Amino acid sequence: MPAAIFLDRDGTLIEEVHYLSRLEDLRFLPGVPEALRSLQAAGFTLVLLTNQSGVARGLLTEETLQKLHAALTDRLASAGVHLDALYYCPHHPDYGPPRYRKSCTCRKPATGMMEAATARLQLDLSASWAVGDKWSDLEGPLKMGCRAILVRTGHGREQEVLRVEAPVGVQVVEDFPEAARKILAETNLS
Ligand SMILES: [Mg+2]
Ligand SMILES: [Zn+2]
Repeated sequence: MPAAIFLDRDGTLIEEVHYLSRLEDLRFLPGVPEALRSLQAAGFTLVLLTNQSGVARGLLTEETLQKLHAALTDRLASAGVHLDALYYCPHHPDYGPPRYRKSCTCRKPATGMMEAATARLQLDLSASWAVGDKWSDLEGPLKMGCRAILVRTGHGREQEVLRVEAPVGVQVVEDFPEAARKILAETNLS
């Protein structure tokens, strides 16, 4: 069974922009496409999981979000990276019209998106990792037996100081390329 990297989007792979909605604001953080390519070459399945409550809040439509994701996927493809799956949660418990305003099972830290990916791609969670800039990106995967890395890009630095020490199984690194190197180093050892 393949192992996955559960990837957060904003502040982890791309620049944190407050409720990104414009294509011209979509920018990869330094070294990200290359780091994804190295993980893919090592045999990892790449799964992007992103909370997009901007949809519920009326700041962008799902159509716009899908255009952004098509652009993101295209840019990765031209760097030789194939995303195996991309899931987003458009909901928020307190905002928006009824179809978006709900306590859903997909909004991280809930595990609905990763469970859907795990079932569809038959993933080995014990060999999988999560990388994100918020603890809420990592809690679900940790609970389900993955290892996890918090990056200091995006909201990472603010998040890091919210906890006296990282939970068991979590490493904190500067950025996504460093996270990828850690994962590859530990993969080669096992
Ligand atoms: Mg993020
Ligand atoms: Zn949701």
